[in-house]
Amino acid sequence: MSVEKVDTLVVGGGQAGVAMSEHLTKCGVPHLVLERGRIAERWRSQAWSFP
Ligand SMILES: Cc1cc2nc3c(=O)[nH]c(=O)nc-3n(C[C@H](O)[C@H](O)[C@H](O)COP(=O)(O)OP(=O)(O)OC[C@H]3O[C@@H](n4cnc5c(N)ncnc54)[C@H](O)[C@@H]3O)c2cc1C
Repeated sequence: MSVEKVDTLVVGGGQAGVAMSEHLTKCGVPHLVLERGRIAERWRSQAWSFP
């Protein structure tokens, strides 16, 4: 079993978590996003409907 070490965790892959991951990537910061469901679940299944 391989052991990976990471210093930066983002909890939640919603709008805020995905944006944070983008910024960390641009800054060259290795990180891991932990999401208990699917990435951007709210956008996928709970989007507001506009007329
Ligand atoms: C019903 C509803 C409909 C909406 N529709 C729209 C829309 O159509 N257009 C729009 O612009 N905005 C909409 N919004 C608003 C928009 O969804 C939110 O403003 C935005 O999603 C907030 O982003 P967030 O990353 O802060 O939270 P969230 O999107 O809620 O993301 C948080 C994530 O963290 C995860 N998480 C939480 N706890 C843990 C844990 N302990 N471990 C791992 N993962 C965890 C959750 O599974 C979730 O994926 C809607 C909101 C609601 C409630």
